[in-house]
Amino acid sequence: MDHFVYRGGALYAEDVAIADIAATVGTPFYVYSTATLKRHFSLFDDALSWGDHLVCFAMKSLSNQAVIKVLGDAGAGMDVVSGGEYLRARAAGVPGGRIVFSGVGKTADEMRLAIEGGIRQFNVESEPEMIVLDQVARSLGVVVPITVRVNPDVDAKTHAKIATGKSENKFGIPISRAREVYAMAAKLPGLKVIGIDVHIGSQLTELAPFEAAYNKVAELTEQLRADGHEISRLDLGGGLGIPYARSNEAPPLPTDYGALIQRTVGHLGCEIEIEPGRVISGNAGLMVSKVLYVKSGEDREFLILDGAMNDLIRPAMYEAWHDIVPVIEPAPGAEPATYDIVGPICESGDTFAKGRDMPAVQADDLVAFRSAGAYGAVMSSEYNSRPMIPEVLVDGDQFAVIRPRPTYEEMIGRDTLPPWLE
Ligand SMILES: *Cc1c(COP(=O)(O)O)cnc(C)c1O
Repeated sequence: MDHFVYRGGALYAEDVAIADIAATVGTPFYVYSTATLKRHFSLFDDALSWGDHLVCFAMKSLSNQAVIKVLGDAGAGMDVVSGGEYLRARAAGVPGGRIVFSGVGKTADEMRLAIEGGIRQFNVESEPEMIVLDQVARSLGVVVPITVRVNPDVDAKTHAKIATGKSENKFGIPISRAREVYAMAAKLPGLKVIGIDVHIGSQLTELAPFEAAYNKVAELTEQLRADGHEISRLDLGGGLGIPYARSNEAPPLPTDYGALIQRTVGHLGCEIEIEPGRVISGNAGLMVSKVLYVKSGEDREFLILDGAMNDLIRPAMYEAWHDIVPVIEPAPGAEPATYDIVGPICESGDTFAKGRDMPAVQADDLVAFRSAGAYGAVMSSEYNSRPMIPEVLVDGDQFAVIRPRPTYEEMIGRDTLPPWLE
C-alpha cells in the first residue's frame, strides 16, 4: 500500500530515485510520498462513505506543513493535541470547522486560541478541564461544542506506552461515570454537548478491541439520549496499526474497519469522526541513512549508520521493529548477513535492530527504514548536537525539501548567553 518500490535495481519513492534525493540533500533524511498519503486518506474516507463522516488526521504522527496541506486539500480534517498543532493546521489552510482538539492537558491559552480561530469541537477529558473550558468560552461570549472522552476499559493489546483505553491510563473519564459527567456538562452554559469521544490506543492489529469499545459507546449513546442529551456525533479515535515487518500478518483493512463502525454504531444516525494517524502516515515515509562502518565485534557484526535514535526513536522507545532495506536492490541470491544495526550516539539504547538478517551491505551504501512516516520526524531531537534531519516530499517525478537541515551555526545559534557571560 505504499509507493516505495525497487525499479531497475534501485529503490524509488514514486518516480524519484532515493539515491538522487540523497545526492541532493545528504543523509540521513525522511522522505514522504504524496500518492501514498492521498491513497491512505481516501481509503478511510471511502470506508465511511455509508454515512456522514469526517476523517481527522492525527497530526501528532506527522505534522509537516506540506503533509498537512496535501491531506487538508484532499478534504481531511485534523485531530490536534496542542495549540502548536492547531496553528500548524490553520497555517496549512485547514479550516477551523474541520479541526478537533484532543488531549488530556489543554491549557486555557490553548483553548482560547482555538476558540478564537474556529474549532469543530473539543474532546474534553476531565471535569476540571470542562470547568476551565466553560470559563474560557463564557469569557469570550461563545458556546463551544464538546464531546467527552470516555475510557471504556478495554485492553487494546498493544505496547504499554501506547495503550490508552484501560482504567489505569490517564485518558478520558471512566465510562461508568459518564452519565454523571454529562449531567454536569449540560449545566455549564459555555458548553454544548454534541457527542462522545473514545480512543483506546495505537498500533492495534486486531479489530476486536475496537468492537468492544464501540459497542460500549453505542450503549452509552442510548443511555445519554434517554437522559436528554443530544448525541449527534461520535468521535471513534484512531489507532489502527500497520505491518512493520513484511512477514507479519496484515492488520485489518480500512474497509473492514469501516464496516465494523457501521455494524456497531451505524444505526444511531450519528455523524462519525475517526482520528487515524499512523495508518495514514506510517507507510507513507522512509528514513534513509548511510552506512558509515561495518565493524566486527567479538561475536557479531555492527552496522554503524549515520542515522541514530535522535532521528528515529521508535526502536529505542517502543522496542519497535522497522524493516531496513538496502537502497540498491540486492541481486537474487545475494549474500545474506546478520547485523546489529546501530547509530553513532553514545548510549547502547541507540540500537535499531539486533541480530537482523538482511542482504550484506558495505560502507557508504544507503539503507532505508520502511514505515518511518509516523512518529519519526515529529519525535526527533538534536541529542548529541546532531542537527535535525531534513524532510523531503515526493510527488510523481518531483521532490522538494519541506524542512531543511539546519546548519551547525543555526543549531548552536539557538542558544543565547545571559548578559553576565557575554
Ligand atoms: C495518538 C492519537 C491518535 C492517533 O493514533 P494512531 O495510532 O497514530 O492512529 C488519535 N487520537 C488521539 C486522541 C490520539 O492521542
